[in-house]
Amino acid sequence: MKHAQTTANNPRIVVIGAGMAGILTAIKLHEAGYDNYVIYEKSDRVGGTWRENTYPGIACDVPAHLYTYSFEPNPSWSRTFAPGPEIHAYFERVAKKYQVLDRIRFNEAIPSCEFREGCWHLRTSTGRADIADVVIAATGVLHHPRVAEIAGLETFAGACFHSARWDHSIDLEGKRVGVIGTGSTAIQITSALVDKVGRFDLFQRTAQWIMPIQNVEYSADEIAGFRTDPEKVETIRRKINADFQHFSNSVIDADSVGMKEIEDACRANLENHVRDPQLREKLRPNYRAGCKRLIFSSDFYTAIQHPHANLITDGIERVEPRGVRTADGRLHELDVLVVATGFRADSFIRPTTVLGRDGINLDAVWADHPVAYLSISIPEFPNFFMLNGPNGPVGNFSLIQIAESQVGYILQLLAEIRAGRCREISVNATASARFDDARRTAAKKSIWATGCKSWYLDKHGVPASWPWMPSRFYEEMAAPKLESYDRVS
Ligand code: NAP
Repeated sequence: MKHAQTTANNPRIVVIGAGMAGILTAIKLHEAGYDNYVIYEKSDRVGGTWRENTYPGIACDVPAHLYTYSFEPNPSWSRTFAPGPEIHAYFERVAKKYQVLDRIRFNEAIPSCEFREGCWHLRTSTGRADIADVVIAATGVLHHPRVAEIAGLETFAGACFHSARWDHSIDLEGKRVGVIGTGSTAIQITSALVDKVGRFDLFQRTAQWIMPIQNVEYSADEIAGFRTDPEKVETIRRKINADFQHFSNSVIDADSVGMKEIEDACRANLENHVRDPQLREKLRPNYRAGCKRLIFSSDFYTAIQHPHANLITDGIERVEPRGVRTADGRLHELDVLVVATGFRADSFIRPTTVLGRDGINLDAVWADHPVAYLSISIPEFPNFFMLNGPNGPVGNFSLIQIAESQVGYILQLLAEIRAGRCREISVNATASARFDDARRTAAKKSIWATGCKSWYLDKHGVPASWPWMPSRFYEEMAAPKLESYDRVS
């Protein structure tokens, strides 16, 4: 069998994607003594979702000191929830500091990778061929915009774009701006734009529960304190982490006491902060808080009560050249239309064609629903590992913590190869099926399965996310159960 590795202890590793997880992988591979690796990045800059999403108001709803690599604290975060550009700058800085940039082939996407003769054969968008022993897909979760199929959208005469493709050449001052959608993205856009435009129309198909948060700016003194005393940052991290664990432990059990607290907080937020009873009822969801991904906002209710703001709840009939026509027959005339209708959350590495042993196509394996053992490995796809792949704890943990623990796990699998104990490793079909059965059963108890539509659900209505406690995830990640893996020498 032909293998790509030049020596048994120096496997050739290809990482796909230079976002948060790809940068992390490169840093950890280097630390572990691997030096035969490359990152292919489709764009000309690092940063993944933080490079792609530049809409006004973009911020991370995981507090900044937790949404930070554990080994690279950032005392300079400006506020509790960091704005997107600050986060993007952080990833660029870290990539530079750890000399990850030298390892990246920018502007080279990977349209296909195929496992044959014991190694991965990759083709890049520039026509380059590469052969690797190991492929690590750090391709992100929410990156393929889902443009809603709304009749007439293409006929709109003004500027129209998806929230992840923001057109910064358009001056919004004084304009009539419409936003379709009420997910986390649209809510952040609303808060950022409402007092900067002439009129703001928010087209709501489904109301959202809003969890109130405090988003305070750190003072210069506080930031100076974080710089001189790293323990202060650690204390904040521990506190946020504990809050998150509580939240994560609550959402997996729809009947938990924690879930009741979350629902009470959201309900009180609505009752106490929306004055007009009619508007309040329009904003009141008819499903349980947390069923859709919960929205965290300190200012959405204030923004939607701004004199420039209109909440439009009549369904969209069609888009016309001059604006959006709703089911009540009204035409809402607009200059700019933003489509904040989310992402195709079940794509993962696709549209890359991935062929495992004997040409088995990942698309076929995932025809029913995307599945990966512990979100990392797939039977018959040897030495192919995913970060934040299907069924991982997206949505209720910090993705950085997840990726860090997953990289640690993958490094332990790689150690099997490096030590010469095997050349190929992938989860066995029995362990994978058992995991998926247990996961689907547990997911039905979670708040996500209590009767709403969301991107968490697969086509059978089963939540695709990790349905157990964070502690169980981290225990699994601490040491691979090698008996669950097929190893080929
Ligand atoms: P999303 O949560 O999927 O929301 C899409 C919105 O578009 C929903 O309100 C949906 O309505 C609406 N929509 C879809 N098709 C429509 C149609 N044909 N007509 C009218 N409305 C339509 O997308 P997102 O807001 O971009 O957020 C996606 C995820 O990205 C979030 O859940 C979160 O995980 C992540 N995110 C995170 C942050 C952060 O702060 N960390 C910020 C932004 C996004 P329905 O509810 O009726 O389907």
